[in-house]
Amino acid sequence: MTGLYLDAAATSAVRREVLEAMWPYLTGDFGNPSSHHAVGESAARALAAARATVAEWLGCRASEVVFTSGGTEADNLAVKGIALGAPRGRHLVTTPIEHEAVLASVDYLVRVHGFEATFVPVGRDGLVSPADFAAALRPDTTLASVMLANNEVGTVQPVAELAASAHALGVPFHTDAVQAAGWLPLDVRALGVDALSVSGHKLGAPKGIGALFVRGRLPLEPVLHGGGQERGRRSGTENVAGAVALATAARLAMRDREANAAHATTARDAFTAAVLAQTPGAELTGHPSSRLPGTASFVFPGTNGETVLLELERRGIVSSSGSACAAGSEDASHVLLALGYDEDIARTAVRFSWSPDITEADLVAVAPAVADAVREVRGLAS
Ligand code: PLP
Repeated sequence: MTGLYLDAAATSAVRREVLEAMWPYLTGDFGNPSSHHAVGESAARALAAARATVAEWLGCRASEVVFTSGGTEADNLAVKGIALGAPRGRHLVTTPIEHEAVLASVDYLVRVHGFEATFVPVGRDGLVSPADFAAALRPDTTLASVMLANNEVGTVQPVAELAASAHALGVPFHTDAVQAAGWLPLDVRALGVDALSVSGHKLGAPKGIGALFVRGRLPLEPVLHGGGQERGRRSGTENVAGAVALATAARLAMRDREANAAHATTARDAFTAAVLAQTPGAELTGHPSSRLPGTASFVFPGTNGETVLLELERRGIVSSSGSACAAGSEDASHVLLALGYDEDIARTAVRFSWSPDITEADLVAVAPAVADAVREVRGLAS
């Protein structure tokens, strides 16, 4: 594309190294890992190697990695699988700012399986208070699920602290790390989580591959039933090329994450300062510092976010009004409403998100176009 793509939180291009690594498993080495012949065994070896790499990335055992078709399936498997696999209890603790993959799974458990759910409120900065979280836990709580980083405003939660308080009551803890992947450390032992979801297409692997870490012997009821692949936890012929792709992206993340995060944080802060200085009335949403290096979201009162997007696109800048995962939805963002924004203001949101290869100069150069687009839309509105 021409222009500047600032919607990496929606998806990113497949990286060349990733495409080259997966290519053989789509062509010559196309076997089914369950087949007992050389072609199948070669695929099985590639799958095992990919699993070992993802395990190294997440700091877990290879047997604790379940490959899925993406973040949505990983979240579904974690929430439904752990809740339905638990021997007792029918209470869930989560937050109102989770991705729909978690929220809709919780809703399913409530509607179909009679669970109760407690949604721990978040502050204006999008943070969950550890005290409020602890207060929501009950002796019959089956699962707590709190995302590591939010996909709309980028707020990063104190997951290690939340997981520790869940464990004090023996409650398993899942985190959706789809947006955090590539930016934050994902060591599951350091985070203290029992389950963690990632998705390939946010970090340079293709859409349609993801993984769920599930700790040791935590009982997990499968969501997909069939041939018993993935140790019975996720049936379906394995996406070998996808797993190789995810592992390759994970290896690149292990190598480059720290440097990428440091440079993107500097770029993010320069961009944020420039937008706030040049666009009257603009407000950064989410936490000012506990946030992803690759995301900056704003509200621009007196505009309509969708119209600002169109004006930005006319200026060569592609961004988003929030979560592309709820594509087509005209509703105000459930995240901004949960942060306490009025519906009118929530509809003025624009999210900018980028890949690690962004430069500070490119990002800062966008700020005048943002100011101009907002001025134009306010002019149209008045
Ligand atoms: N969780 C979060 C926080 C996300 O941002 C997304 C996608 O945007 C998902 C889950 C779903 O991942 P996938 O698109 O791989 O299904």
